[in-house]
Amino acid sequence: MRAIDLEGKVALVTGGTRGIGLAIARTLAAAGARIALTGRDAARAGEVASGLGSGAVGVACDVADAAQVDAAVAEVERTLGPIDILVNNAGLTRDNILLRLSEEDWDTVLDANLKGAFHTTRAVIKGMMKRRSGRIINITSIVGLIGNKGQANYAASKAGLIGFTKSIAKEYASRNVLANCIAPGFIETDMTSALPEEARASLLQAIALGRLGQAGDVADAVLFLASGLSGYITGQVLVVDGGMVL
Ligand code: NDP
Repeated sequence: MRAIDLEGKVALVTGGTRGIGLAIARTLAAAGARIALTGRDAARAGEVASGLGSGAVGVACDVADAAQVDAAVAEVERTLGPIDILVNNAGLTRDNILLRLSEEDWDTVLDANLKGAFHTTRAVIKGMMKRRSGRIINITSIVGLIGNKGQANYAASKAGLIGFTKSIAKEYASRNVLANCIAPGFIETDMTSALPEEARASLLQAIALGRLGQAGDVADAVLFLASGLSGYITGQVLVVDGGMVL
């Protein structure tokens, strides 16, 4: 069996301070990558990065703000070198039925989840093109594929991310830059912790594998898409949902 080895690679994980992003950062670090992670809370980003060891860096950055993203990417490249692997994971929800969905909640979600990926990808793509090598992995959601009541803004942002990824995959394939999405189902993190017990139980019934997803389940899929084992895969959506939507 071939080992997955990311020794010498630099990986930037947005929203790497908690939940799925933190699991991704840990998993890529364990495979030998040098990690940069971002979040909006500077102190937490620094603390989490030092916990990872091996010279990991934590940078404060709101992905919705293009100037902050450009500055963060420049800082990471100064400290660790060119970014080989970008994981657009930062995301948030502002759920409400359409009738009550404010323009502010629409914009907040689209700006972080979709425009954020645009900002970060644009900031790294030139370097990847020049080096003729790069991996971009965007964390979308099963909700971007099937929709969800009360999440029109979130579903639109995640569906948009899929179109964005496929377009990037086509634009940069000739430069050996591969872009894919991962669509998690229900993963136990801060984002999903508020779900009432009843709703959680009924969700569980819908999951073929009979358990809720863990952040590490998503991180393992990211590791595959960041590694040499997926060199002929681009523009795809890998669903990691325990068989919830079949
Ligand atoms: P969490 O809420 O646990 O963590 C979100 C992370 O993103 C935090 O590190 C947060 O840091 C960061 N973040 C949020 N907004 C911004 C922003 N504007 N700029 C920079 N960083 C930001 O969420 P999860 O770990 O559950 O989710 C991670 C990704 O996975 C998201 O994109 C989510 O949509 C997706 N996903 C999650 C699923 C689940 O079931 N949990 C299912 C499908 C997809 P800080 O607050 O400090 O900025």
